[in-house]
Amino acid sequence: QKYVYDFAEGNKELKDLLGGKGANLAEMTNLGLPVPPGFTITTEACKAYLTTGREPDGLAGQIEAHLESLEREMGRRLGDPDDPLLVSVRSGAKFSMPGMMETVLNVGLNDRSVVGLSAQAGGNDRFAWDSYRRLIQMFGKTVCEVPGEEFEHALDEAKHAKGTQNDLDLDADDLRGLVDAYKKIFVKHTGREFPQEPREQLDLAIRAVFESWNAERAILYRRQERIPADLGTAVNVVSMVFGNLGPDSGTGVAFTRDPGSGAQGIYGDYLANAQGEDVVAGIRNTVPLQELEQLDKSSYDELLGIMARLEEHYRDLCDIEFTIERGKLWMLQTRVGKRTAAAAFVIAGQLVDEGLIDLDEALHRVNGAQLAQLMFPRFQLDHEFQPVAKGIGASPGAASGKVVFTSARAVELAAEGESVILVRRETNPDDLNGMIAAQGILTSRGGKTSHAAVVARGMGKTCVSGADALEVNVPAKKFTVGEHVVNEGDLVSIDGTTGKVYLGEVPVMPSEVVQYFEGSLEPEHVDNALVRAVHRIMTHADATRRLAVRTNADTGEDAARARRFGAEGIGLCRTEHMFLGDRRELVERLILARTDGERDDALAALLPLQRADFIEIFREMDGLPVTVRLIDPPLHEFLPPLEQLAVNVAVAQERGEDVAKEEALLAAVRRMHEENPMLGLRGVRLGLVIPGLFAMQVRAIAEAAVAVTREGGTACPEIMVPLVGAVQELETVRAEAEKIIAEVVGDSGVEVLIGTMIEVPRAALTAGQIAEAAQFFSFGTNDLTQMGWGFSRDDVEGAFFWRYLELGIFGISPFESIDREGVGRLVRIAAEEGRAARPGLKLGVCGEHGGDPDSVHFFHEVGLDYVSCSPFRVPVARLEAGRAAV
Ligand code: PEP
Ligand code: MG
Repeated sequence: QKYVYDFAEGNKELKDLLGGKGANLAEMTNLGLPVPPGFTITTEACKAYLTTGREPDGLAGQIEAHLESLEREMGRRLGDPDDPLLVSVRSGAKFSMPGMMETVLNVGLNDRSVVGLSAQAGGNDRFAWDSYRRLIQMFGKTVCEVPGEEFEHALDEAKHAKGTQNDLDLDADDLRGLVDAYKKIFVKHTGREFPQEPREQLDLAIRAVFESWNAERAILYRRQERIPADLGTAVNVVSMVFGNLGPDSGTGVAFTRDPGSGAQGIYGDYLANAQGEDVVAGIRNTVPLQELEQLDKSSYDELLGIMARLEEHYRDLCDIEFTIERGKLWMLQTRVGKRTAAAAFVIAGQLVDEGLIDLDEALHRVNGAQLAQLMFPRFQLDHEFQPVAKGIGASPGAASGKVVFTSARAVELAAEGESVILVRRETNPDDLNGMIAAQGILTSRGGKTSHAAVVARGMGKTCVSGADALEVNVPAKKFTVGEHVVNEGDLVSIDGTTGKVYLGEVPVMPSEVVQYFEGSLEPEHVDNALVRAVHRIMTHADATRRLAVRTNADTGEDAARARRFGAEGIGLCRTEHMFLGDRRELVERLILARTDGERDDALAALLPLQRADFIEIFREMDGLPVTVRLIDPPLHEFLPPLEQLAVNVAVAQERGEDVAKEEALLAAVRRMHEENPMLGLRGVRLGLVIPGLFAMQVRAIAEAAVAVTREGGTACPEIMVPLVGAVQELETVRAEAEKIIAEVVGDSGVEVLIGTMIEVPRAALTAGQIAEAAQFFSFGTNDLTQMGWGFSRDDVEGAFFWRYLELGIFGISPFESIDREGVGRLVRIAAEEGRAARPGLKLGVCGEHGGDPDSVHFFHEVGLDYVSCSPFRVPVARLEAGRAAV
């Protein structure tokens, strides 16, 4: 088996095998770009190592052969005492996991080759010893688990002894001394000398990269980002180029467009006289890439040329890492870059304009989760709130919360339900837990490409980085900014778009994208690239999609908003929501009625109220279908809680008060009490046991439809019966309803459909029979999931889902995203058998899944006619339905 590929042998399609970094290094090599020569060890080798605990047969020989050919190409041998070849050993998985796995630089240096390196660098001893101490530090920490602080401590001591804060002030002798100190630390922790044999260094570094796939933080990151656990990482062995050879050298990171806003231009950070990881680690503050033009015009021009070439080749935003070694530019990495939600839309629109992609492709380049993010509110600022600091808007959004300084405290407070802002000088991969728990992240160091920035953008979490006016003192749990002192627990607000930092809690306002959906921003007249891009892509999604999108709404107001957001009708009007508030008492009367007369009076009082509700909704949804569901939840939800009532009655009796009425209520509540209300008297069962209840609702619906028609409107009611499990239930309700409808509608021309929810597994499995009596099905995937898995939808998420997620029983709650194999299979069966029995049967879904991106794709595949979701999810569903169809 082939485990090692030369860069010239791979290409960008081989990410599974070569990892993202390796595949793209190969692609750049084949484009003729200046990539330092090297080779990639495949993810297959890593997987074999991780399963068997040793390198697979043949790997060592293949590495040897590739190393020899690399040595020939470079005209140097690894670790040669006189003229050493040095290599970096870099991880690179299929999906980027910034900073989560290991890298070792300068492999091949030892006590002898350090002298050769100095000669290579023109007698630059300082550089050679600095490179050597970096190797021992990185190798010690990564390969041999020597605590990193020990090295940092020794470095600080050396600087202290020299009376400086700056690494660059340490001279060759200082660094030689530091190498000795590092070696002692190495021996102390590993019980052996630092390995001098270059090939041993290489083999151990490769093994350490393999093993870093299962580092705790990598596992956590994969879980968060839903990256499968069994992919393994590739390992890239790359000949070293040096950005720390002097002022004519340096290293940087760049984007071909702004990953924050999508704007065209040159975005990046550059750090002169520095090596690779210094930039990403955010340890020294970088300068904007534009300044490179002054420092080294020819490299700058070459870099811009390469960036344009890469964009055209990848037809997308690329991010790159590069190094300049004494005026010579080298490309160390490229990939299609991560971007914010806004940038994703803007860039997709621009690439269409530039003719690089078509609109179908543009739809693939964005997604519903990004659109949802753009609908988040932003800060509403007035004179009261003045920023106290400005950093870099590293990941957009508006976040307020209590300041915390450690990952552990962030996790603790978040678990108590607090919003927290994690404040650090800079984050490192060990802060991941805290970053996940926090509402936002604020750092005083680092650029747009620092660890905090990259990780936050990936998570869609608000982040301001490099706010250097902040003096962060983690041990004292405070930061100072100007004359303000901010302690742990104080409130701050951060704006991840502008980079501004405010003290206190700033109020928020709706997003521009929402204003556009609301109709208060006309895309043609808006000088706003984002709104125009959203408009254009949404228009294409609407033209492309086969699924219609409706909304779940039970007030005129929600109906109107959803319609502005593009809803094409109501897929679920939950009528029980209309019985709350003042009307609760009427419902109480209905439940407590002892005679037919009392019950009829209560129903008669409810009828006009219901009718008025429906008139309002039909007006708002003029011309569009409105699915009204007959009352569903257990009636005792409308009555006072049993325990409280019992206590009240007992107390009143004690005082000798007249409690006849309360006693009657208590008796009724006792009578209706259920141990498992979700599986009890609800849905169609209610309609069958309380005479006149469904009839009243059907009459109100039909009368409202007639009234709206008389005033010139068009009402298209669809009456939906909940919780049906057997066709007989539906037939009984339907027979009664049809009589009432015929009587009310007369010759008004109103047409009323009668259908059912499919939310009990038995209904899905007998859908063929049920379809005989139903004019439409709407899948209630909330209850279908509840009853399909036997998971109480009100209890389980907090109780034990965390464990299920941890064990990987599912990757996401089945209440959030449809379980395709199980609950989804019920949907598929019911759709097929329902349509077989009644060709053209209208099928929709109205559970929460109707607004979940992944589920929308599933419903498209199954062939439903529409999805229905809450008003704010309507644009997301429209977009995803479009994406599912291209
Ligand atoms: C469902 O069960 O999916 C549904 C839409 O009904 P409800 O959420 O009201 O039970
Ligand atoms: Mg339901």
